[in-house]
Amino acid sequence: MTTGLVFDERFLDHRAPPGHPEHAGRAAAIWSRLESEGLAARCRRVPAREATDAELERVHTPRHVRAIAETARHESLRLDPDTYTSSGSALAARLSAGGLVDLALAVAEGRLSDGFAVLRPPGHHAEAERAMGFCLFNNVAVAARAVQAAGAAKRVLIVDWDLHHGNGTQHSFREDPSVLYFSVHQFPFYPGTGAVAEIGGGEGRGFTINVPFPGGMGDAEYLAAFDGVLLPAADAFDPELVLVSAGFDAADGDPLGSMRVSPEGYGALTRRLLGLAGGRVVLALEGGYDLDAIARSAAACVRALLGDPAPEPAFGEPARLARAAIAAVKDAQKEYWAGL
Ligand SMILES: [Zn+2]
Repeated sequence: MTTGLVFDERFLDHRAPPGHPEHAGRAAAIWSRLESEGLAARCRRVPAREATDAELERVHTPRHVRAIAETARHESLRLDPDTYTSSGSALAARLSAGGLVDLALAVAEGRLSDGFAVLRPPGHHAEAERAMGFCLFNNVAVAARAVQAAGAAKRVLIVDWDLHHGNGTQHSFREDPSVLYFSVHQFPFYPGTGAVAEIGGGEGRGFTINVPFPGGMGDAEYLAAFDGVLLPAADAFDPELVLVSAGFDAADGDPLGSMRVSPEGYGALTRRLLGLAGGRVVLALEGGYDLDAIARSAAACVRALLGDPAPEPAFGEPARLARAAIAAVKDAQKEYWAGL
């Protein structure tokens, strides 16, 4: 049993307009780092394949699936001020979603121990009927639904440590107690959602947990959110699979955000998650725009997935503003999660 990896050269055919931060060099930088550190060779490659209409339509409307397919006829399009397509984008988006489905199924069914998917385009902002925030299909939401539909896992935990709140993922599972969505993110910030009071609705009340942080937070604060909120709730939820919206735009040096998480911090966060769901943890790339930071951070996560020992550095005390945010989350969630 080993770690699975998804990467496909066709992800690079999602071609960015000049100057756009979400460009093909991101996935290429991560992949070349995984190769040069000898990590890719220690993992098993899972081929990307196109997600089917049925898989996509568990999360997206048929109209949205058709609209993304139509973009292939155009050299370049703007779907909103941030979100673009090129002629290769529709195929890249289908391959990203389908590759993540197969990786998640292999892990949930015990054929691989855990996994990392170097995907483009990213997914967590994509809504049922709307591409936004550089995202076309919601890869992680599609994978969660596929694993449930196959009977490979009933309860799925989605952990979103991207700098931004995953509005699309939150909305996909808002009233669903079989999927616990946890996000830690910069707030207030794009896309505007992710306040403490957003806890889900109907049967899903309490199954959405948002930890909104001010800028400037780093390893100590992210680990405090995991140790203080995520892990106690996850222990009670008892997930059978953990999917991670693993953006690296909260990394120190990212040009879009002002967080300061280090590669060692991302490795420590990954190790925390490996204590859940029997270690069945699958990371999927979302954002992250500093090429050196994302490559080093992804490599640290893959080393953690492979089980390489790493003594945890002293990350220090979390900042007062982070402690206050965590206390507010516990207060809003304590009636749903006894451990908080
Ligand atoms: Zn992001």
